[in-house]
Amino acid sequence: MEIQSMHFQQRAGQKLADQRLQQNLKKLSTKFVSGRASGILELDDFEGTRDAAIERRMRAIENLDVWLDTFEQEATRRGATVLYAESAEDASRLVVEIAKKHGVKKATKSKSMVSEEMSLNHALEAAGIQPIETDLGEYILQINGNEAPSHIIAPVVHKDKEEIAELFARVHHRPLLTDIPAMTREAREVLRPQFLSAEMGITGGNFIIAETGSVAIVTNEGNEGMCTLLPPKVHVVVTGIEKVLPTLEDLATVMRLLPRSATGQSISNYVSLLTGPKGEGEQDGPEHMYFVLVDGGRSGLVGTEFQDMLRCIRCGACMNHCPVYQKIGGHSYGWVYPGPMGSVLTPSYAGIENALDLPQASTLCGECHVVCPVKIPLPDLLRKLREKQFEGELRPRTEYFSYAVWAFMARRPALYSLATRIGVRVMRLMGGRKKSISSLPFAGGWTDTREMAAPSGKTFRELYKQRTHDRKRE
Ligand code: SF4
Repeated sequence: MEIQSMHFQQRAGQKLADQRLQQNLKKLSTKFVSGRASGILELDDFEGTRDAAIERRMRAIENLDVWLDTFEQEATRRGATVLYAESAEDASRLVVEIAKKHGVKKATKSKSMVSEEMSLNHALEAAGIQPIETDLGEYILQINGNEAPSHIIAPVVHKDKEEIAELFARVHHRPLLTDIPAMTREAREVLRPQFLSAEMGITGGNFIIAETGSVAIVTNEGNEGMCTLLPPKVHVVVTGIEKVLPTLEDLATVMRLLPRSATGQSISNYVSLLTGPKGEGEQDGPEHMYFVLVDGGRSGLVGTEFQDMLRCIRCGACMNHCPVYQKIGGHSYGWVYPGPMGSVLTPSYAGIENALDLPQASTLCGECHVVCPVKIPLPDLLRKLREKQFEGELRPRTEYFSYAVWAFMARRPALYSLATRIGVRVMRLMGGRKKSISSLPFAGGWTDTREMAAPSGKTFRELYKQRTHDRKRE
């Protein structure tokens, strides 16, 4: 998928003004935030499980080559073929080659963010192969002109029921439906013949297990089973090299966290553990199984200050809780991964110069770090990316000038104090009786889409002075 994060600010502005989107994004706090809060309460030792998961993920990442090697040996021993792709484009080429080798004309797909990195649907279509998305959310996006997902686990969180009903009526040429079960039934009716006629099933892989050469796939719809167990004679798994886990016990540990952090469920509706193609005398399963393991910038993070990012289990909790994502949605970020994790991953995978705004797309409130099941220090990583941008002279000239002015003032406490006192008074005057500012010269970003509260009460310096004084008197 082409990176568009250069225009982040412009897109974010449009999304903020989109009232329908603002309404739809409220689902994040009602559904996901409260779901996670009750989901983690069920675990008797949430913190202990988090620490165990971190240890297990890091054991894999710190010896990535060893565990990938073990995985390859075990998967091959069980009849699968393991292929490595250095870039997302290479990975697409490999999948197209596999499809051509087996004479595939139609491929069903279950949800895979790595396939979004690869722009796999475009590559398949260009080669004359019809991709059919079978995850309900991804299917909706595909029939809406191959729209990009806006969330890693809820790809259509930006849409409402009415919008989807109109889309179904238009594309399926059927009467307008009004309730969700009927819409789901209609999608199932449309997709069923596709499952039965596809020659290839493509899935992502939440994790790959080194000791057994298996892939673990987690869904709530069961479509991954339809993609891999119904007629398709070929199953292709596309996933990132960092998804390897040494053992099944490691999988059990991270699975205690993934659904709870994502949707609040104690376990997802379907957890498939698939190992090798169908054996002799077996009824179900593909005749051929391939793994396409994508690097796409991941190995470049191993051993660096950004290595922690590789232990991400793609639960989406960081974006669900992010005050920025909650207001602008996923499309503003301009590439596959939105929210705080995307603001670290996009510059890390695609080059910091290709994602200039993303490290700034955060208030650094720290909530993403608090909720991340594997405690990735996202605010620290964003800060490090900002430092790299600054040192690389990639920020606008005005920013360097502003910091220079601030540094000049900060070294002169009396001047700094005078300037802040004047600034606070001016802002109080601007706030007037309603105590809120509707427009700030040279800082429109604070007021363009909301009223900014005027300063009230004492300033930090006044409070600090008073409390120090009070303490001395005690
Ligand atoms: S960074 Fe953490 S919270 Fe965000 S998707 Fe990854 S594991 Fe989940």
